[in-house]
Amino acid sequence: MNDLSASISAPLECNDVLRERGQREVFCGLTSIVWLHRKIQDAFFLVVGSRTCAHLIQSAAGVMIFAEPRFATAIIDDRDLSGVAEMNEELDKVVTRLIQRRPDIKLLFLVGSCPSEVIKLDLSRAAQRLSRQLMPDVRVLSYSGSGIETTFTQGEDACLTTLARELPSAAADAPASLLIVGALPDVVEDQFRRLFADLGLGNVGFLPPRGSAELPPIGSNTRYLLAQPFLGETSRALDDRGATRLAAPFPFGIEGTSAWIAAGAQAFGIDGATVERTIAPHRERAGIALAHYRDVLRGKRFFFFPDSQLEIPLARFLARELDMIPVEVGTPYIHRQHMAADLALLPPGTLISEGQDVDSQLDRCRAAQPDIVVCGLGLANPLEAEGLTTKWSIELLFSPTHGFEQAGDLAELFARPLIRRARLGGGKP
Ligand code: SF4
Repeated sequence: MNDLSASISAPLECNDVLRERGQREVFCGLTSIVWLHRKIQDAFFLVVGSRTCAHLIQSAAGVMIFAEPRFATAIIDDRDLSGVAEMNEELDKVVTRLIQRRPDIKLLFLVGSCPSEVIKLDLSRAAQRLSRQLMPDVRVLSYSGSGIETTFTQGEDACLTTLARELPSAAADAPASLLIVGALPDVVEDQFRRLFADLGLGNVGFLPPRGSAELPPIGSNTRYLLAQPFLGETSRALDDRGATRLAAPFPFGIEGTSAWIAAGAQAFGIDGATVERTIAPHRERAGIALAHYRDVLRGKRFFFFPDSQLEIPLARFLARELDMIPVEVGTPYIHRQHMAADLALLPPGTLISEGQDVDSQLDRCRAAQPDIVVCGLGLANPLEAEGLTTKWSIELLFSPTHGFEQAGDLAELFARPLIRRARLGGGKP
């Protein structure tokens, strides 16, 4: 692995990015409910949508439900504008029944979708109205997961933006605190909490929290680290509350995690030697785990279709820590400030595309014949049928991938399809 400070190159200029505006192949923001509902344990996500929305959520998450789920769809049938009052009444009835049946719900999200009959409803007013009725027992918030406005990870951004506006204000003389922003599996959250505690940093909060009563206070003494690269609106909402973002690469792989932890520590005056000493054993273990997969992945050419906005940090990880070769790194949207550190670490000359024109991108992919293609489910099957090896990008969200302890698992997610293909006689791992 390269030394971070020595090898940062100049950030890419906008001109180096191929911008595409055409047909897109990506899930809508409702999909993020699948991982968000597992995180905030007393929350419930009520999608206000159509049968299509209900099918999407059920097929994305249905196989994982063993207990009473924490999401559902209120199906709104087609009405003209004069039926809006009726729809509001119906929504109130659905919510009242839900809360009576499920007293464990303390935070209810009304999640908007894109059917025209839903767009006629003002969900933020409905949430305010219902909150007035149900507080203090239940807080009701709203956001949009519509496919017109959001790709699948932007659903989390919209949800956390709403939550960021609800965070309690920290007192002006409150001690400085660190906030980690982005939904992380509990096991990863615990690892980061322990690491920061070992560094002497105890005042660390997480957004989203595990329970609605644990919303971390925020103010001008809050410094925050983004754990996910798709949280542009959340970041803006936190800035509006007076908090300050700490610039860092995202915590994927050894390099990203080291620099991310160091950025947090540095903001609180913890010296570099203490950081090095604290993270050294974790880094060593992660190095051993990565070595296990490097032989499979070294020299393999990868192609990212734009999907999750994780593409740039993951391409940085694959190229620099596993010696893989980027063919094209497609991403739906580049937040240039948030992505600056990761962009600067990509191999010079990497082709980055922003947005999508799926047909021309498929042509480029077929012409390049990469060893592995990372894409959405809709593209994976046809590409597999053409003999290409694929990885579903959505798995990168469903699996624990952040931090030192998960670096090996993250590498394995890319190695597994190559090993499987080789076993089927389609190539050499
Ligand atoms: S929100 Fe829109 S894109 Fe998403 S499932 Fe519903 S109808 Fe489809």
